[in-house]
Amino acid sequence: MNKTAVKRIVPLRTISSDSATDRGPRDRFARPLRDLRLSVLDRCNLRCTYCMPEDSLEGRGVFLPREELLTDDEVVRLVGIFRDLGVHKVRLTGGEPLLRPGLADLVARIAELHGVDDLALTTNAILLPRQAADLRRAGLGRITVSLDSLDPEVFRQMSGGRGSVDEVLSGIEAAGQAGYERLKINTVVQRGVNDAGVENLLAHFRGSGHVVRLIEFMDVGNLNHWRREQVVPSAELLRRIHARWPLRPLSPSAPGETARRFAYEDGAGEIGFISSITQPFCGDCTRARVTADGTFYTCLFAGQGAALRPLLRQYADDEPLFAFLGRRWSDREDRYSELRRRRAAPDHRVEMFRMGG
Ligand code: SAM
Ligand code: SF4
Ligand code: SF4
Repeated sequence: MNKTAVKRIVPLRTISSDSATDRGPRDRFARPLRDLRLSVLDRCNLRCTYCMPEDSLEGRGVFLPREELLTDDEVVRLVGIFRDLGVHKVRLTGGEPLLRPGLADLVARIAELHGVDDLALTTNAILLPRQAADLRRAGLGRITVSLDSLDPEVFRQMSGGRGSVDEVLSGIEAAGQAGYERLKINTVVQRGVNDAGVENLLAHFRGSGHVVRLIEFMDVGNLNHWRREQVVPSAELLRRIHARWPLRPLSPSAPGETARRFAYEDGAGEIGFISSITQPFCGDCTRARVTADGTFYTCLFAGQGAALRPLLRQYADDEPLFAFLGRRWSDREDRYSELRRRRAAPDHRVEMFRMGG
């Protein structure tokens, strides 16, 4: 990134200081490293059009060969190193994380790491009926489920013709039975595709304890042919929803939270808006990402990462990796969403299913 350009732009909001966790490196904008999004597999059983559109995948050999995936031992070791750098929140994602064989065993090992106090998973929920109870026993703290529409036709249109609303609802039910009473439900809203069904979806989850988060369609990767006209600004949705069910803003529950939270005035629970396009939140971004083959990225929109797998195999001692990651984080100056309007996107951006959402 051009450093002079960065200096000319309005300064980032300053991140709230948290003395209890005030350790580890700070990046060029004084942001600490607190969260790790760990993709455990890039494959998926759905083909959501905004993430992994089937027609763009054909013949490309886009998925990682099994032998290139980090082993469980390598994943656990890496999480331990990130923990020592200040990470205390870990989210397992993908691709579809529930497709990774032995996921519950991996969860159990990460959950045992002292200092990882928030272990979460993002999933399309299709395989939750088989796995929710095991994941709970293994120590998984929280689950986020992605569900874009309750209309079976719209769902299938967005999931690339795979899976069904009923399967996702069964997954949500199974999670509830396993003890996950307060799920986050992620909904990517696309104009002219599922925006008309937002109120239906909210009506379904009002009063359930689950929290729907409406996400602006993002320009991640190169395959989804993102166009700004397809984005429904959160402000527009907020007005619409507020007219039907009055809302009041809630304060963030944690520093660096991606969603702006609102409560229904009538006590039916809460909803969130993730507005990466219209209200970027780079100033509070404390997230690092590691792909299933161990590539480290400091931004969701990065074009290039650092391969950690060779380092993991080269050094039996953690110190060189610790130092390498610390240096990388200290050099970080990513703020893609804040600069989106001002500069062209890198030609090659890593796909969401590879990077991990
Ligand atoms: N397969 C899992 C799932 O769908 O929950 C986990 C991986 S998925 C990449 C993680 C999250 O990224 C999902 O909630 C998905 O809706 C979101 N996502 C994927 N592509 C997106 C895009 N272009 N814009 C906004 N959100 C996106
Ligand atoms: Fe799969 Fe999740 Fe991407 Fe949909 S959003 S294709 S479920 S990885
Ligand atoms: Fe963080 Fe990059 Fe997203 Fe900004 S654009 S919030 S730096 S991941």
